[in-house]
Amino acid sequence: MKLSLVIPCYNEEENVKEFYRCVKGCFDGKIDTEDYEFVFVDDGSRDNTLSELRELSAAKAGNIKVISFSRNFGKESAIYAGMTRAAGDNVCIIDADLQQRPEVVLRMMEILESKPELDCVAAYQEKRKEGKGISLAKTLFYKLIDNMAEVEFVNGASDFRLMKRTMVNAVLNMTEYHRFSKGIFSWVGFNTEYIPYEVAEREHGESKWNTGKLIKYALDGIVAFTTAPLKIAIGIGFGFSFLSMLYLVVVVVQKLFFGIDVPGYATIIVLILLLGGLILFCLGIIGEYVAKMYVQVKNRPIFIEREYFESKDADD
Ligand code: UDP
Ligand code: MG
Repeated sequence: MKLSLVIPCYNEEENVKEFYRCVKGCFDGKIDTEDYEFVFVDDGSRDNTLSELRELSAAKAGNIKVISFSRNFGKESAIYAGMTRAAGDNVCIIDADLQQRPEVVLRMMEILESKPELDCVAAYQEKRKEGKGISLAKTLFYKLIDNMAEVEFVNGASDFRLMKRTMVNAVLNMTEYHRFSKGIFSWVGFNTEYIPYEVAEREHGESKWNTGKLIKYALDGIVAFTTAPLKIAIGIGFGFSFLSMLYLVVVVVQKLFFGIDVPGYATIIVLILLLGGLILFCLGIIGEYVAKMYVQVKNRPIFIEREYFESKDADD
């Protein structure tokens, strides 16, 4: 098996069959049917995604594997689950909504085959199609996390990528519960080439992301891949201690040498509030890390499979 396509699907009833047809049409004559497989992961969809997948599988017109979760575990878990079932020498992660075109997968295959030193070809969005505000926020986020974390984060890079088996196995070995795939893919290393691609419009269904989810995702990413916020907390503490020492000297000099009574009420109130706020802020940062540790030590599974079925191309 040359290629496994890992496809996370959450409420994609209108897309899965079209995705399948589109890939078939695109790969026709370029990769033999028996050389690639679809690994669909139904991430606890509430619509008819699973029955659509069942119909696809029953038609036996390709190698299809379907994993269905017991509930919605999120795209990151779906990617992981799909990778555990993928049998291909190369694994490509691709969305079910056809925003990421199968033509790009062929281009990735060509690049990977023509450059043996590469382990992975990842696609990044050259031009973001979202509004200016969200696009700027995302660019800033990538700059920030790239600077803070020891691993590289490429602006616009998505999970859309083709990986060789060695890299896939490395990713599968990363069994952390809070999965931030972009970080995991960089963390495992390997030679990756980034190619630009254009995101197509979503034709059916709607994006599962909203601003609140994006912010949570961004914060999770930061906590998962860098401890810089803890260092910032130390920096704030150190800075304030230093300033307070200086101020202490000023107050002592004023009192002893100039006999100036220091009027205090406003200063004290402001300082108490400011310091109280900062202490809570720093505690919150620590709390984030402790909470993540707490969930991790419970060692819960990354996903729970409710059902698994597969079908092979009838020609075999
Ligand atoms: N997805 C998933 N689980 C979720 C949310 C999304 O498996 O909880 C899948 C979704 O079905 C799609 C892919 O992840 O195939 C990308 O999601 P979406 O299109 O909503 O994201 P966007 O393209 O807007 O970034
Ligand atoms: Mg999409």
